[in-house]
Amino acid sequence: MHGLKIYLESKIDLSPYIKYNKGDMQTKEEKLLKHRESQRKYKASIAGKKTENRYRKSKYYQAYRIRHANKLKEHRVVWKLVDTAKRSGTLLKKRCEVCNKKDAIAHHDDYNKPLEIRWLCRYHHYLYHKKLKELR
Ligand SMILES: [Zn+2]
Ligand SMILES: [Zn+2]
Repeated sequence: MHGLKIYLESKIDLSPYIKYNKGDMQTKEEKLLKHRESQRKYKASIAGKKTENRYRKSKYYQAYRIRHANKLKEHRVVWKLVDTAKRSGTLLKKRCEVCNKKDAIAHHDDYNKPLEIRWLCRYHHYLYHKKLKELR
């Protein structure tokens, strides 16, 4: 019996299973918590705020902001034009060009041509955008 025990112990390496026992998991969680806590403290600290400010002043962040602001502004202008045109009756809401379903969405291929609209239902609008993404 004793011989068999020694045989098993020598043949089977249990270390990979022992590595992640409960005690170790707890210390890992504790370490993560401690890390998060220190990050939170760092962000609240003066040094942390300086880093955050440096990031906000960075060229990358500014470029990102400008890019998105322009896009948003563009869209807002276009949608206002579409809305005005709808109200005045120069633009009539149409059916989906693919399936002829009512309540189509006004899709713009080019926001520089605000009244060139492709009317698509929710489903075909989704499909159209999916296709556009694939083509890019
Ligand atoms: Zn449709
Ligand atoms: Zn669209």
